[in-house]
Amino acid sequence: MKKIRALLISALFLVSALILSGCSSEARESFFAMNTFMNFTVCGETPEAALEKTRETVTELEGLWSVTDSGSDIYRINHSAGQPVTIDERTAALISFALDMAEKTEGTLNPAIYPVLKAWGFTTGENRIPSPEELSALLPLTDYEQVQLSGCMVTLPEGMMLDFGAVAKGYTGDILTEQLKADGVSSALLDIGGNIQAVGTRPDGECWRIGLRDPFSDGILGTLQISDLAVVTSGNYERYFIGEDGNNYGHIIDPESGYPADNGLMSVTIIGKSGAYCDALSTALFVMGYDRAVRYWSEARDFEMIIVCADGSVALTEGAEKLFISEGEYEITVLK
Ligand code: ADP
Ligand code: MG
Repeated sequence: MKKIRALLISALFLVSALILSGCSSEARESFFAMNTFMNFTVCGETPEAALEKTRETVTELEGLWSVTDSGSDIYRINHSAGQPVTIDERTAALISFALDMAEKTEGTLNPAIYPVLKAWGFTTGENRIPSPEELSALLPLTDYEQVQLSGCMVTLPEGMMLDFGAVAKGYTGDILTEQLKADGVSSALLDIGGNIQAVGTRPDGECWRIGLRDPFSDGILGTLQISDLAVVTSGNYERYFIGEDGNNYGHIIDPESGYPADNGLMSVTIIGKSGAYCDALSTALFVMGYDRAVRYWSEARDFEMIIVCADGSVALTEGAEKLFISEGEYEITVLK
């Protein structure tokens, strides 16, 4: 009996030691890449090595997808003068995904919006208000259906340009998540310029807690408790300029008009399994506006969302409500 007890105790000790050593350390890194701040936390037995690899991958992807770096796939596509360009298979997959999402969202996500974005000066920071004539001349150059992708070969009519600012960070999050999991990491939190990607839970088994930014202040609206999920927010409250006419112009463009989306929304947050999907949808649903976004969700039902309206009210889906702890006083509508 004594012997059995001793065995049991040592077995228990072994189990708890394993659990402890399994998540004994944590490595963190913050850096600037893809035009934004990244903040990674990786937990595990050897988190430094896995973290180092994620950083290397980010550098690699940035080298492929930068719009300004003359060696990147996207730069070469945008300067191809109508000629076919051979690209990396990861770029081909990104383009294919973005075109598919453009189709699904009826062009509210438009990876070919770059010529219009440029006219507004969002690509250089030298913002200006283009004339209606200038915009209507540019809109035909944003027809994403004219992008031809065949394997790793892409052809664009002259004058057209691609930009993956609305999906690349989310797409990167998915690639990093997959890589971390393949490296045996079961607990990590990636903040890719505000796109959050949670790998597993915290090392203690609790959910990761994410603050949801209040677009009206520097504070938060509440916290989301998540595991194995991505949380992506789009809004015009962070990146915008004030025009000579005194109006605010945000960086998310309504591809139909060529003007910044301005339809009574402050922010759209999408929660789901894939960072790329959430990123694409956060931009698209922000362009759609309230009614259309709610309709889109009730048909798709494969993601959760939180919409903050310009009047200060908040609408969230039933699934999002389960993850959300509100911290403010505002009117909440639960979408069912
Ligand atoms: P953020 O990059 O601020 O996280 P988004 O994911 O919504 O926000 O992406 C916005 C970026 O996407 C813009 O800065 C621009 O590069 C690009 N963009 C703007 N409007 C659109 C659109 N309708 N479709 C696709 N990309 C867009
Ligand atoms: Mg987006």
